[in-house]
Amino acid sequence: MMLVPHACVNAAAGSFIKRPLTAFAAGLACHALLDLIPHKDVSAHKAEGLLVLIMLGLVSTSCGLKSPSFWCAMGGVLPDVEQVLPWTDPKRGRRRWFPTHNRRFHSLKVPGAEEFRVQLLTQSAVSLMALLFAIRRCKPEGCRC
Ligand SMILES: [Zn+2]
Repeated sequence: MMLVPHACVNAAAGSFIKRPLTAFAAGLACHALLDLIPHKDVSAHKAEGLLVLIMLGLVSTSCGLKSPSFWCAMGGVLPDVEQVLPWTDPKRGRRRWFPTHNRRFHSLKVPGAEEFRVQLLTQSAVSLMALLFAIRRCKPEGCRC
């Protein structure tokens, strides 16, 4: 999955969780779940990294650095850091540690997966909606009454 949906969908999910630590653990689980869904990937690591930093910035300014939304998003982003580390690079004979970064579990090869993989446009649209949702729920003036 692109890194952006991992951050945004998790920020939205985190807004339903009470404690930051629980949110972080749920964030890791949510990363695995999203990775299982058949999807397309981009390899623009730098652009994605930058976008995600902006999004984490938005979540932290509207929800706070101690908010479950922020920590759930962090849990969603952290596992993918190993995708760019040299010492977890399969091309150098190293192995990845996060379970869904193993080929067999990444983007499950269920029947029809090729045709129905989640497109980048869909991932971006879902991300944008999830981000707006998360920010709205965090703002004190956003209606949680
Ligand atoms: Zn991943």
